[in-house]
Amino acid sequence: MVAKRSADINAARTIALSVPDPELPFLTLEDLGIVRNVSIDGDTIVAKLTPTYIGCPAVSVIEKDVFDALTKAGFNARVIRVDSPAWTTDWITDTGRQKLKDNGISPPETKSTSPLAAKNTIALFSQRTVACPHCDSTNTEKLSEFGSTPCKAQYRCLHCREPFDHFKCH
Ligand SMILES: [Zn+2]
Repeated sequence: MVAKRSADINAARTIALSVPDPELPFLTLEDLGIVRNVSIDGDTIVAKLTPTYIGCPAVSVIEKDVFDALTKAGFNARVIRVDSPAWTTDWITDTGRQKLKDNGISPPETKSTSPLAAKNTIALFSQRTVACPHCDSTNTEKLSEFGSTPCKAQYRCLHCREPFDHFKCH
């Protein structure tokens, strides 16, 4: 009985973590770090997700995708949104960051790699250092606050002259 339950919960967790992001399908929810917890309540799998960005249209799509994936696998599923603690781009895994880069999108800066931004919050708003995913140059300029989706800003590298998207949020 206990063994069966634990097998089920592992399968359910794997399914929830492997759901692709609707806008960046090469990223899974595990890569994004938004699945907080998968547990079992009676005969129902409860997946707790933390939205990446309040007001982003992808959030409700992600919740539905997790629900659908679990239901399709034969689970009774419930998806709960957990707002606190708030998601930050620091929760994106190293694998996720590498996948962003491999797909020509510059990953968001982290607190750990951007000590200036961590120490001085004004720096977050006045100047963000965005590195080119092609040549790693930080000599870049923002072309548009919105790229192909609201979650991406459009940049151009002044070093290799390639345009690229910068992942901001969800
Ligand atoms: Zn470049």
